[in-house]
Amino acid sequence: MKKLGSMLNGAQRALKLSRYVAIGAAAVLAFSHDALAADAKIPVVAAENFYGDVVQQLGGDRVDVTSILSNPDQDPHLFEASPKTARALQHASLVVYNGADYDPWMAKLLAASKGTNRTTIVAAELTGKKGGDNPHLWYDPATMPKVARAVSAALVAADPAHKSAYDANLAKFLDSLKPIDARVADLHGRYAGVPVTATEPVFGYMSDAVGLSMRNLRFQLATMNDTEASATDIAAFERDLREKRVRVLIYNSQATEALTKRMLKLAQQSKVPTMSVTETEPAGKTYQTWMLTQLDALSTALASSGDAGGANAAAASGAKGKTP
Ligand SMILES: [Zn+2]
Repeated sequence: MKKLGSMLNGAQRALKLSRYVAIGAAAVLAFSHDALAADAKIPVVAAENFYGDVVQQLGGDRVDVTSILSNPDQDPHLFEASPKTARALQHASLVVYNGADYDPWMAKLLAASKGTNRTTIVAAELTGKKGGDNPHLWYDPATMPKVARAVSAALVAADPAHKSAYDANLAKFLDSLKPIDARVADLHGRYAGVPVTATEPVFGYMSDAVGLSMRNLRFQLATMNDTEASATDIAAFERDLREKRVRVLIYNSQATEALTKRMLKLAQQSKVPTMSVTETEPAGKTYQTWMLTQLDALSTALASSGDAGGANAAAASGAKGKTP
């Protein structure tokens, strides 16, 4: 809560005994001022559309959700907030964002629009992550249950008359994540330790959950931070693909530049299977179907790399892989 310290008023700060107490108390403050009419929806702003989706699933017709980052063709790391973003925040009673420097514009905007009582939920704080950690927290299967519980507690505090509905929605949501956990466990059983690489660290936590051995992290950080990868790191990445030392290239289709496109092409030429992932939830998907679709794509890519013959064994022994 460090960054948000400046926007919390004294009363809220005093009540910040624990995360859940703080969420409940702040929300009560917010809504006791302006008692929620029976049919009024709770205005919510989510910095990223996957958090917005989760709030919508938990709040149903009791919430009015605005998501700021929702364009899967735009690199979220390069996003800059507009006056429209600031206006949406002014009226929000509940704000959810990622933190860990993924969306540094959120803390700035919140600090700039003081004077309104609102509850803020930061995924990074719930998961113990900070600036410098991999910020793509929503790809960690452990994150969304924590966010969902915090969001649900805030909704109940804001609108206690509908507690039973929120409780039921939360139970249903947590239950709906089980197929994702089952898929991760299944892939872990089959592919733990298999070497893969990626153009950007977006899928990193999910890859870790599956137990894959992720290579070329420095290259990935350079893509994420929009800085130049070193010649050594580029050469290592190219060698991994050319010599098939990795079984899959995970390609972030939302953080592309000439270099990452070159790596995609090299993977295709070297017959290293590729899978495309996005940072932002695509239209027509829920958080759950999005994650499952990508795990399916990973499973297909890993299976086809196995069929290609001996790539993993070659990588494991350090031997040179087949050249196509
Ligand atoms: Zn990213």
